Amino acid sequence: MRVTVLGCSGSVGGPNSPASGYLLTAPGVEPTVIDFGPGILGALQRYADPSRVTVLLSHLHADHCLDVPGLLVWRRYHPIPATGRARVFGPADTAFRLGVASAECGGSIDDVSDTLDLHRWRDGDTVDFGGYSVQVRQVFHPPESYGMRVTSAEGKVLAYTGDTGMCDAVIDLARDADYLLSEASWTHAEDRPPGVHLSGVEAGQLAKMANVKSLLLTHIPPWTSREAVIAEAAGQFDGPVHAVSPGEVFEL
Ligand SMILES: [Zn+2]
Ligand SMILES: [Zn+2]
Repeated sequence: MRVTVLGCSGSVGGPNSPASGYLLTAPGVEPTVIDFGPGILGALQRYADPSRVTVLLSHLHADHCLDVPGLLVWRRYHPIPATGRARVFGPADTAFRLGVASAECGGSIDDVSDTLDLHRWRDGDTVDFGGYSVQVRQVFHPPESYGMRVTSAEGKVLAYTGDTGMCDAVIDLARDADYLLSEASWTHAEDRPPGVHLSGVEAGQLAKMANVKSLLLTHIPPWTSREAVIAEAAGQFDGPVHAVSPGEVFEL
């Protein structure tokens, strides 16, 4: 199983990265993209045919899903028509939210069911994709949001926090993972909002509590110091700490 970082800028796209998106590939399995924020459709074209991907949405904040309307255009109007529909997994109101984003005019909703085969996440679900399975748990973030535990056919584990504050569910998801891909949206400042996101300190604490092998920091916004977040996490977790960049590949 291979994870390719398509985009990792937190909350919005940045000067050097699209917003959130991670490509998951394994031999004999159609590629999967975890989160599909602004800029991901462009980055994806370097690595895979967008007509052949499954999409897993952690939640419906704009920075995690707003290139899906572009994927609709790609599949509907590309000169080589895509076969079948793209499977998209997400929260309960995914059809409505993507339908509004893709509509022709205000007040209308695009019926995306011609192009997308939508599946609703439920807390604790495990979906088998052939070369890997994905378990989701609902995490601590304002909209309905899920973290993911991806397990390869060989039993290797990538845990992805999505966007979340510290919670039991995200610790369970990360337990003994080979890689923890953890958001770290801000430094551990006294005036940071409660919940919502993890600080660098909390990402490091999560890695330690869950006993992961390696911590990959992501979702650092353009206005947050990358160096400060890395230093905070490394102060809590004794294992390897690395902040990911677009184009990086991790093999499991
Ligand atoms: Zn986000
Ligand atoms: Zn969010």
